[in-house]
Amino acid sequence: MERVFEKASAKINLTLDVLGLREDGYHDVEMIMTTIDLADRIELIARGDEKIVIECNEGFVPTDQRNLAYQAAALLQQKADKPVGVTIRIEKRIPVAAGLAGGSSDAAATLRGCNRLWNLGLSLEELKLLGAQLGSDVPFCVQGGTALAKGRGELVTTVPNPPKVWVVLAKPDLGVSTAEIYQQFSKHEQQIEPKTAMMLQALEKGSLSLVCQNLSNMLEPVTVQLYPEVRRIRDCMLRAGADGVLMSGSGPTVYAIAQRRTRAQRINNSLRGFCRNVYIVRLSSTSFMIN
Ligand code: ATP
Repeated sequence: MERVFEKASAKINLTLDVLGLREDGYHDVEMIMTTIDLADRIELIARGDEKIVIECNEGFVPTDQRNLAYQAAALLQQKADKPVGVTIRIEKRIPVAAGLAGGSSDAAATLRGCNRLWNLGLSLEELKLLGAQLGSDVPFCVQGGTALAKGRGELVTTVPNPPKVWVVLAKPDLGVSTAEIYQQFSKHEQQIEPKTAMMLQALEKGSLSLVCQNLSNMLEPVTVQLYPEVRRIRDCMLRAGADGVLMSGSGPTVYAIAQRRTRAQRINNSLRGFCRNVYIVRLSSTSFMIN
C-alpha cells in the first residue's frame, strides 16, 4: 500500500471524576468519553527512506518529534521487520489545546493507519497498549465510540452510545495546559460527587434527560476560576435553552447538548460576539475497527 487515509475524531467528556493522586504523579480518574463528528484528516504516504515527516496546515502544531503523530509512527516503526518511513499530512480541524484530544486522536489515527500502510497486522488491543505509552487519551481514541476510562484514562471499556443529539462546541481564545489544571485541582481539593456510575446507568437506559442531568466534570470549577470566560459561555448556552452544558477535559472548550437542530442553531447564534470558535456537530459515536 502506498497511501492510506484515517479520520481522527475529537472527543468530549460526559463525565470526568478525579479520584486521587497516584504515586507516579498522575491522577486516578474515572470518566466517560464519546467521539463527535469533528475530525482531523490524516493522510499517510509510504516513503522510500526511513524518515518520519510531518506536514500540517496549522502553524501552532509542532512538526517534529514533539508531534504525537510523529511519536506514534516512531513507535510502530520499531514493530516493522523491514525499513519503513512515512509522510504524515495532518489537516487540522479540531482546535488545538482545547480539551478535545486533538493530538491524542492524531496519534491514534497514525497508529491505525501505519498498521495498515506497513502491513503490521497488529490488533486494535495491541494498538491501544502501544497508544498508552503516548498519552492517557490515546487508547480511547484508537477505539472511538463511547467508553468508560479508568486508571490514568488508559484503561478503556466500551459502553452504550448516548442518544444521537446535536452538540454546540465553543472554544474560547485561550489554550489550557492540562498539567496546570490538575496541579490546581490538587491544591484546592473540591468536594464534587463522582457522577460516572450514574452516567453509566443513564446510558444503559438510553435516557437523554438522565444523561443531561449527570453531565459532570470535576476539573470545571478549577478552569472556571482561572478563566471566567468559561463560565460566561456556559451561562450563555443555558440561557439559550441548552438541554445540558459541560466543559470537556481540562477545557477550555464548553459544549451544549441540544435535541433539536433549531435549538442548536439558537445556542450558536447566542454565542455571536462572545466566542469566535463555535461548531455545531453531531455525536457520531463511531467505533474504529480493524478488518
Ligand atoms: P487532551 O484533551 O488530550 O488533553 P487537548 O485537546 O487539550 O488534549 P491537544 O490539541 O492535543 O490538546 O494539544 C496539546 C498540545 O499538544 C499542543 O499545544 C501541541 O503543542 C501538542 N501537540 C502534539 N501533537 C499534536 C497534534 N498532532 N495536534 C495538536 N497538538 C499537538
